[in-house]
Amino acid sequence: MTPVRVKVRVTGIIQGVGFRPFIYRTAVKNGLKGYVRNMGDAGVEILLEGEENSINNFLKALRDEKPPLAQIHEIIETRLEGEHEYRDFRIVRSSEEAELSGSVIPPDVAICGECLKELRDKNNPRFDYFFITCTDCGPRFTVIERLPYDRENTTMRDFPMCSFCQGEYTDPLNRRFHSQTVACSKCGPKAYLTNSDGETFPCKDPIREAGKLVSEGFIVAVKGYGGFHVAASTLKDEPLARLRRAKHRRQKPFAIMARSLEAVRSFAEVSPKEAELLTSPMRPIVLLRKSAGYYLSELVAPGLHNVGVMLPYTGLHYMLFDEVDDPAFVMTSANPPNQPIVKDDDEALKTLGGIVDYFLFHDRRIAHRCDDSVMRVHGEKQVFLRRSRGYAPAPVMLREKVRKCVLALGEGYTTRRG
Ligand SMILES: [Zn+2]
Ligand SMILES: [Zn+2]
Repeated sequence: MTPVRVKVRVTGIIQGVGFRPFIYRTAVKNGLKGYVRNMGDAGVEILLEGEENSINNFLKALRDEKPPLAQIHEIIETRLEGEHEYRDFRIVRSSEEAELSGSVIPPDVAICGECLKELRDKNNPRFDYFFITCTDCGPRFTVIERLPYDRENTTMRDFPMCSFCQGEYTDPLNRRFHSQTVACSKCGPKAYLTNSDGETFPCKDPIREAGKLVSEGFIVAVKGYGGFHVAASTLKDEPLARLRRAKHRRQKPFAIMARSLEAVRSFAEVSPKEAELLTSPMRPIVLLRKSAGYYLSELVAPGLHNVGVMLPYTGLHYMLFDEVDDPAFVMTSANPPNQPIVKDDDEALKTLGGIVDYFLFHDRRIAHRCDDSVMRVHGEKQVFLRRSRGYAPAPVMLREKVRKCVLALGEGYTTRRG
């Protein structure tokens, strides 16, 4: 057998999206030896040793079977001389390459289909765990304090893994191999309900209790991945009128979160393109046309033909709807006038205590605030009204390479532009 050695450099959005575990699995499957390592801004470097055929199969899989969230910009292959050096294939730990860490921080990703299935599976150890995540989904930008993207550099470092989570984290064939946000109800963040003064409101199931309170007409501040939302019923005028008075927002529309796509269709028109966007891993707020039979309170989006709708993007959001029949809740960003979305617990109690009846907190710190993205579909085109959660801080790739250096900035309050 002639030894073949190839170095492959891959660039693109390939950090925090399960790319290296994918490389590992594909290399092992093809009987290849070598390593994959993170080169920060310069992407990922892969060294492959093995037979020609296996290397070709690997390269084909790299293009055809990459993880759903990975975006490859360039693949550069270099044939190397010399004998085989490696006896196995390994992922070089990124902490060994701290000096190479770049500025590519991946955006947050909505809960994936697999995790949602596990959340609902009574026999799964993460049944009912509101912050269930894997390498394909979960918070990134809102938990990462510094690069490289390793658990100790995120706000998840406050939650040491239990032996079960650790076992999955270290198993190369597990979906949660090197998943920095892996957690369960035993070792991960916990949710709790308080009154408007921050006094804990004892209850067994704080998330579903919060959903019931919203449905009954109370206003509840809900801490999510990137900040606080203010949640209220979409079917009752009283809490919305109260919220509008407190927020001094007489007319401005409130964004809503619907329990399912089917529920959205009961009050708004949804084109296939809009449905695709609503259910995408980015889960932006999408501006939709109210349907003829629109039945939500007029105070949600007064006097407008459109309503801004998003679907749940964490286990917590799905669970809010479990014990109510409401098609949707108002989920407006909690931000004081001309201020960014509230992200810290103390700040929330201070600025929202006079507005809301209850708080649904969790005990994970938010590293970076991140508001929901807002989009509109124009014909076949998707238009950004606010580029934030799900998109920022991923770079905007230009179609062509440009010679001039261009700097584009956005205002730093409720908007975060890339
Ligand atoms: Zn997942
Ligand atoms: Zn655990």
